[in-house]
Amino acid sequence: MMKFEEFEISDELQRAIKDMGFEAPSPIQEKIIPEILKNQDVIGQAQTGTGKTAAFGIPLLEHLTKEKHVQSLILTPTRELAIQVAGELQKLSKFMHVQTLPVYGGQSIGHQIKSLNRGVEIVVGTPGRILDHLNRGTLKLQKVHTLILDEADEMLDMGFVEDIEKILKQVNSDRQTMLFSATMPPAIRKLSNKYMKNPKQITISKGDVTAPSINQVYYKVLEKNKLDSLCRVIDSETIELGIIFCRTKKGVAELTEALQARGYMADGLHGDLSQSQRDMVMKKFRDGAIEFLIATDVAARGIDVQNVTHVINYDIPQDPESYVHRIGRTGRAGRDGIALTLVTPREMKHLRSIESQIKMNIPAQSLPSVEEVV
Ligand code: ADP
Ligand code: MG
Repeated sequence: MMKFEEFEISDELQRAIKDMGFEAPSPIQEKIIPEILKNQDVIGQAQTGTGKTAAFGIPLLEHLTKEKHVQSLILTPTRELAIQVAGELQKLSKFMHVQTLPVYGGQSIGHQIKSLNRGVEIVVGTPGRILDHLNRGTLKLQKVHTLILDEADEMLDMGFVEDIEKILKQVNSDRQTMLFSATMPPAIRKLSNKYMKNPKQITISKGDVTAPSINQVYYKVLEKNKLDSLCRVIDSETIELGIIFCRTKKGVAELTEALQARGYMADGLHGDLSQSQRDMVMKKFRDGAIEFLIATDVAARGIDVQNVTHVINYDIPQDPESYVHRIGRTGRAGRDGIALTLVTPREMKHLRSIESQIKMNIPAQSLPSVEEVV
């Protein structure tokens, strides 16, 4: 195994990495950091939780100059992820004189403008708000030398492609561009062909895109007994924090109510919540005040909570890529995670297409009997 000491990076960075408790580079970091340090454009494909932030963060910080203007721009699909990535960069740069600013919608733009005017080297933001600043002239990207598209597949899914292209066109074409994604749909290829220079692709996986540390099983259930089946499953597991996925907003609302009525510490997250309601639910979940977060795919985008032991697919996703994203919410940072999927007879076809995407069989498990439930 490689060591961080083998990378040609400053002592300040080495010390910060130690302080963060990182003992050795993760596989994606080991492969991609030397490439980025050589100014190579890269595409990094790896499951969530594999350390992609530091994989680009470490060389990005190494490449900063003393100049007080925006040198690096990182685009993320959601506000949560922007905050998270900025936080990780702040930790990595704690022995450096570097300002990192997260910039996202839902926060006062005046406040962001003030911070930008004070001078920042790194901006991490969502495409919509970044574009807003560009249009107002409050953010200038001409001198950006490093550009990162984080969770590119999610950004495209959310319809940001036009915004991203507008932003890319404003950044000096001499830049280094990096793209990170859990999956590689054709739209990403198109984007990288158009805006990247001979990118080197680094993929961490052995033919499958799911991390090996996630134990996956499914339960055959009947539509009419689904709620009871779910309760039997969750009662028989030792769950610290669990995310339960439903297909629709209505499904989230109904299941949240049903679980709360049965005395579970559960709360729902769906697209209709205001930002402050959403923040409140996320805070409760992070603090462990609730055990279950019930969400749609859209609402769960960008969520990264440590200690999520279980991802439960109450409704199996209809497309295999959503499955990969969902289960990536557990098994983070090398810890084991468990992904449980309820499947009705009608939904077996979705299970099969997921299995063919991840190139592995998901074993069936029989529902725990009432006696096994503690
Ligand atoms: P990704 O972007 O691939 O989903 P993150 O960058 O969010 O993953 O990293 C997931 C977690 O792993 C974070 O808490 C991060 O601090 C931690 N981490 C990253 N690199 C290492 C490492 N080399 N050793 C230990 N933990 C790490
Ligand atoms: Mg990431």
